[in-house]
Formats: sequence, C-alpha cells, structure tokens
Amino acid sequence: MNFLHFEAALLPTGWADDICIGISGGVIASVEQRQAGPHTPVHGFAVPGLCNVHSHAFQRGMAGCSEIRGPGRDDFWSWRQVMYRFLDRLEPDAIAAIAAMAYVEMLETGYTRVGEFHYLHHDPRGLPYANIAETAHSIASAAEITGIGLTLLPVFYAHADFGGTPPVDGQRRFISSVDMFADLFDASKKALTGDANIGVAPHSLRAVTPEELYAVQALCPDGPVHMHAAEQTKEVDACLAWSGARPVQWLLANTDIDRRWCLIHATHLTSDECDGFAKSGAVAGLCPVTEANLGDGIFPAERYLQASGRIATGTDSNILIDAAAELRAIEYSQRLSARSRNMLATAAQPSVGGYLFNQALSGGARALGVEGGIAVGLSADIVELNALHPSLVEKRNDMILDSWIFAGRPGSIKSTWRRGKKVVENSRHIASDDVTKAYLNVIRGLMHDA
Ligand SMILES: [Zn+2]
Repeated sequence: MNFLHFEAALLPTGWADDICIGISGGVIASVEQRQAGPHTPVHGFAVPGLCNVHSHAFQRGMAGCSEIRGPGRDDFWSWRQVMYRFLDRLEPDAIAAIAAMAYVEMLETGYTRVGEFHYLHHDPRGLPYANIAETAHSIASAAEITGIGLTLLPVFYAHADFGGTPPVDGQRRFISSVDMFADLFDASKKALTGDANIGVAPHSLRAVTPEELYAVQALCPDGPVHMHAAEQTKEVDACLAWSGARPVQWLLANTDIDRRWCLIHATHLTSDECDGFAKSGAVAGLCPVTEANLGDGIFPAERYLQASGRIATGTDSNILIDAAAELRAIEYSQRLSARSRNMLATAAQPSVGGYLFNQALSGGARALGVEGGIAVGLSADIVELNALHPSLVEKRNDMILDSWIFAGRPGSIKSTWRRGKKVVENSRHIASDDVTKAYLNVIRGLMHDA
C-alpha cells in the first residue's frame, strides 16, 4: 500500500486537514486524519480529479487556426468548415498523437477522465478502415500512454440536417448506417483497456433520425448516452420547423432521457425546458470556453441550477484545456449577462468555486458512468493544488477552490495521480516531452502539406 499525506483534502463530507490517503491497486483503500510526523512527506491540497465530459481530441491540433475573419459573418457554421478541412487529412497515427497531447494537458489542468465524443471513424476517402474501429484504437492508445481515464463515446452520424437530409462531403469520415455502427460499437469495445468504459453518442437531432436514435440507444442499454443539443439558435429554429418542438423539448417528449443521458451544450433552453431537463436526472455537459469561442450563447445556469439541474464541464474543441477556466467561464458568463456577482452558489454552499467544483464533480461522474471523489473504494484520481503557490498560500476550505478557479495561475496544480500513479509532477506530465515531440512532428507534417 502506498500512502499520500496532504495538508488538507476535499472529502465527500467537506474539507479536512492532515489527511492520509492509502492506495492499493489504483484504488483508495483508506482515508485517515493524522498528524504530520517529522519524516512524513506532506503534499498540499488534495481535490478529486474531474471528469471532462466532452472532448473532440483531434480538434486540439487546429486550436488557434480558426481566429481569422472570413469574408462573411463568422459563426459556428463557418468554423465548422475550417474544422472539416483540418480533419480531411488526419490518419490514425496523427489522431493518436494529437489526442495524447490533449490528454496530457487535461491531466495537467485538473481532469483525470475524459469522455471522448468520437466521430472521426473512416479513412480520408470516407471508407471504413480494415478494422472499422481503427481510430477508436488511436484514442484508446492515447489514453493508455497518458494514463487518463477513458469513457469512449462512439458517435453515430448519418445526416446533414433535420429530417434525414443526406450528408455532405465534409462529413464523409463520420457517416454510418445503423448496421455499420453496430459493428463499429462492438469493435470499439475491443479497444478498451483498464478502467475504460463505453457509451453511445447519437450526434444530434440534426444528424440522426428518431428511428436511428432509438436503434443506436438500444445498442448500449446501460452505458452513458451523450448528444449535442440546442447549441445554436439556427439549430433550434430548424428543429421547430421540422417537428414543432425545440431540441430539448423534443428529447424530453420523445425519449426516455434519464440519469444516463448527458446533453452537450443545451445552451438555448426555455424555463420549461430547464425544469423538465432538471427533473429528468440527465446532466448538462457545459463547454463554456468553446461555447464562447464559437459564439454559441450563454447557458441559463442560474435558472437551471435553481431547478436542481445537474452540470458537468467539457473542453469540447480543446481550443484551451483547463478545468478551472471552464468553471470560471460558467460563472463569468452569468455575471456579464446579469451584471451581478457570485451567482452560482447557495446558502448552504456560498463559495462559488466550492459550489461549481462539487457540481462538476458529481455531474461529471454521472455523465461518464463512474463515481468520483476521495473516498474508500473509488479510483485514486487525485489532483494536488500547490499550497505554496502565491494564489493558494494560507487559503483554507472552499477558498482554496475559489482561489484556484478564479485566481489560479500556471503552477497551481502541482501533481496528479491517476489510478494511484503519479502522472503529473511539478506541474508537468511525466510523458510530456515524448508526447510533445510526437505532436510537433504531426503538426509540422500537416502544415507543410497544407
Ligand atoms: Zn462537441
């Protein structure tokens, strides 16, 4: 058994000082309070690693390449054209190298598990690889190299728009029939190792007909179900024209949406949708850094959380990867629109950082079908905040989280243990050099070919 001794730790019951965590076989075997002995190595503040519920890892490779104004008005749809051009040439090795870079950055910034919403399935011509789940293996190998926990969410994608519109050329690498997807889903399971798990991701109501949605869901009766919903007002209008209902309204009325579901974005909600969504037990997978980058809009977090809705965070396009930045952006978007402060908190948990962190911890674990927290029997996925960092020194209890989330700077996270193994040391992932080198080679190749 390996023991880690922290100055303070965030436990399910709240913050506690002088906590010694015993780890055996990657799992937390004991959590005890004890005094520091003269030779006991003492770490700083321990918080549980968060689940990043929404990533398209390959998009890490185009971060920064879509900030140039085009001839018309730039929005999500013009960004998507840039993204389609980028992915046109990616082969499985490049996907693995880019994903590994993204996963290193996640482990360095507070995430210990990723929900990979994986839709780049086929070769550049749009034909299945000899192993139909070839690129799922790229993702799984990136997770294995970096040590991050993986929830693989193979995406079913069949249409360009509502009502079964045929796909466009830029989507050829995503497209499957339901039968093909059943094979892809089975083959993807074979890529998983360790504590990786699998769910299913019908891409959106744009890309999936109701019949296909039900058929795809039936392939995975117990795992997570993730779907993009209501990210864009244009999408809401198109859904209304197609069905007479808004996307979330349609899902609430026509599916068995429950605690296994995670609706990604769900940006544009009415009050009724907030209430119905909250009552369903499903999780809203918010990606506010990407949503801000894409100009999607602002999620009605105050209204939805008041209705006891559940949230989690995702890094989505991976334009930037940082758990604290996502949590901060959720609160700041509310402040800017309401011209008010300290909005997402309760009387019982008045610290905004504490409240948001705990929401993202429980919502994230639910969305990825795992349990999260520093408690006996759970995976030893632990993040150490540096107690001697200028932003964190002398902080106590939830002010530690407030300081990390709102005032954290590079170096705030000192270490990360994933399944009990220390994968981040002195703020750097242990495989950072090798992963970065492979990533640079891939990007150089892509830029030279462009
Ligand atoms: Zn997405």
